[in-house]
Amino acid sequence: MSGPGAVRIVLATGNPHKVEELEPLLAGARVSGAPEGFDPEETGVTLLQNAWIKAAALRDDVDDDAVVLADDSGLVVHALGGRPGVFSARYAGPDATFADNCRRLLEELEGVEDRSAAFVCVLVGLAADGRMYVASGSCSGTIAPAMRGLGGFGYDPLFLPEGDDRSMAQMTRDEKAAISHRGRATRRMASLLGLG
Ligand code: IMP
Repeated sequence: MSGPGAVRIVLATGNPHKVEELEPLLAGARVSGAPEGFDPEETGVTLLQNAWIKAAALRDDVDDDAVVLADDSGLVVHALGGRPGVFSARYAGPDATFADNCRRLLEELEGVEDRSAAFVCVLVGLAADGRMYVASGSCSGTIAPAMRGLGGFGYDPLFLPEGDDRSMAQMTRDEKAAISHRGRATRRMASLLGLG
């Protein structure tokens, strides 16, 4: 439970799916979202750079007692040399939907034997006095031959986490959080921020 003296966190993301996954893992903090339309240009070439860009873009707009927390994440497919990686959101084009991206991935992996992949998440927390907190997490798995399940977002219908024959889109939010890249990174960040 978060009380009046709890750490305040403002999430620097316009992605409602990420807010939904991050919020319950930050219990103990008072969490709020970014202003509507928050969507800074992600010009970095690494997850860390883009997470920092998002956190810094919001820093001046929030109160000094709040930590701004940004997530950048992506899917790394080994047979594709690590693509789509930092470009996961725009893999099938600048206005690609989650379904477009999944279809492109299936096309690129047609006939490819090695379907191993990993989700990776980097979180950056920025305090008003310049302190920066960084935490990362990953989840290994394989790319399924077809989409399965309706939960989650992004590439979840195609991602089979190691040790489970369901896709991430077939899991509950809590099951995904227990093993996901974002769940792992967020638990590390919660510990860095001293959330009980
Ligand atoms: P970002 O908003 O620039 O971090 O882009 C992240 C992109 O990576 C999303 O649009 C998804 O395509 C993909 N992605 C990141 N995390 C997940 C996840 O938990 N499940 C499925 N796809 C994800």
